[in-house]
Amino acid sequence: MLVPAKTLFAKNAETSLQKNDASGLHFDINSMAEYRAEKGLRNLEPYSIMLINRGLKAYNEKKEKETVMLLEGAKELSPDLPLTYFYLSRINFSFSPSGFSAAADYLYAGGEAFLNNFWWSFQTAGILSIGLFLAFYASMGMFLITLILSNIRLYIHDIVENKRKIFLLLPSVILVFLGPGFGIIGFMLPFWRYIKGKERVMVYMTVMSAILLVFASPWFSLFFDTLKDKTLHSVIKINEGLYTGEAIEIPRYGRSYEIAFADALNLKRKGYYNEAAAVYKDLLSMKEDAMVYNNLANSYVGLGNNDMAITFYDKALQLKKMSPAYFNLSQIYRDKFDFTRAKEYYLKAIETDPQKVAFYNSIKGVSVNRFVMDETLSNKELWLMALKRPLHDKSIEMMLSFVNRELSAALLLLLMFALYISDRYISPGAYKCIRCGEIYCRKCEKKIFRENVCHICYKTLVKMGELTPKERVEKILEIQHYKIRRNQTLKILTLIFPGIGHVYYGWSVSGAVKLLLFSFFIFSTLLWFYIPTPVSMDLLSSFFRWASVTGLIVVYVTTVVNIFRRVP
Ligand SMILES: [Zn+2]
Ligand SMILES: [Zn+2]
Repeated sequence: MLVPAKTLFAKNAETSLQKNDASGLHFDINSMAEYRAEKGLRNLEPYSIMLINRGLKAYNEKKEKETVMLLEGAKELSPDLPLTYFYLSRINFSFSPSGFSAAADYLYAGGEAFLNNFWWSFQTAGILSIGLFLAFYASMGMFLITLILSNIRLYIHDIVENKRKIFLLLPSVILVFLGPGFGIIGFMLPFWRYIKGKERVMVYMTVMSAILLVFASPWFSLFFDTLKDKTLHSVIKINEGLYTGEAIEIPRYGRSYEIAFADALNLKRKGYYNEAAAVYKDLLSMKEDAMVYNNLANSYVGLGNNDMAITFYDKALQLKKMSPAYFNLSQIYRDKFDFTRAKEYYLKAIETDPQKVAFYNSIKGVSVNRFVMDETLSNKELWLMALKRPLHDKSIEMMLSFVNRELSAALLLLLMFALYISDRYISPGAYKCIRCGEIYCRKCEKKIFRENVCHICYKTLVKMGELTPKERVEKILEIQHYKIRRNQTLKILTLIFPGIGHVYYGWSVSGAVKLLLFSFFIFSTLLWFYIPTPVSMDLLSSFFRWASVTGLIVVYVTTVVNIFRRVP
């Protein structure tokens, strides 16, 4: 009654698959769909991509009917591939209301497919968040280093006046050995005296985000680990019913629940029903699960034991009202010529999940893989599985600190507290005259007239009679030179890296924002170029590459133009 998994159809499809691969001339969508259904797969990505490429070629040659046919074929062969929907959206777009709504519908479907596709969603989330992490890290570093460099002359002046102030460097030197992240923040301590107002707020915010980064960093290591994990690749491929042409790698021993589940799915698809049933029973001895009961029942259908199958479908339904179990029951009862019950279960299946039933109907056939339907892990479950894996690679965490997370956070809080109270214990330091750039302190200049203006500048401004004309002219020239030098440095720093110049001259908030944006676009560009993504994601990757490079240019040009226009 039931034909075994390896049928005539599959064989035909397999040979035509190879033939098509080689010549690429003739492509029979129906036979490919047959092949997919026989193998119990859901997505034949390489063939969909081939169809898309041919569709795009037809589109360029203005053969509209052919384009739509090829793209619809691509959608049919890989319903979970977001790429097809994005192209369908682009091709259907026009400035008429109907064209607009058709494009919007496909875009929405593409978005849904994106969220349901593990590698698309995982890689995008990973690359963008790592880009943001690295941008935060780099811009924080540059911000603090720039603050230190712009005040270093003041600190040297203070050390010359009071040798003991060199010991303020001690904590930061010790902290560097606990991690580069701390080292930089620790170096704020000797310079805290020279930093005022908004800059201080920015430093506090930097320390706070360093604490957040410490706790977020394991995710980044996990991301890179996941990309390298061959078993995980296989588990995802099996659950998404994905054909990519690569071999499946599943370990036999010491495996997690999800890996064993994927193994059973794979065994059953290939027709090893006894072996699959054994794995499913093993899983059930650990935890009762509706999905596992449904799939176990399917293995019994494969073995020709429909009564056993019905018992397990019922068990599945006792745990959860699930559409595949209803559908499978309706199939079994139809096979037994009990059409009333078959219809009853079929309606329940539609009521529970009409979309799934529509897909089941599209692949329905007589062999086990297409007679009863397996349940697979959802994208959400695959994500959870990836997230709870043990970690091996800690290189990203090491960028911030060499000690564990809790200690790192505690150290950072301690550092923030040290900065906060340091004002009370460190005597007021040197200051830089904002007009002439000369450095003074209470020791070398007895009276201070006004904050940040030296007494000579003050006299040239207010008490002109106290200076000789020669002294006055000299000072005015000095002020002018200082201004020119300052503007030149600002321009050069902006050309080197937008934002550094801003921070150097005290525009700390806008400087920090520019540093962050520019670094984000740099890292995003690099990551989208260097982290390998699945072939099917090529369009998305090139979109992000293009967007990142554009962002990079926009931030650079606007910042540079702004500075050169504002500063004479
Ligand atoms: Zn001055
Ligand atoms: Zn001094």
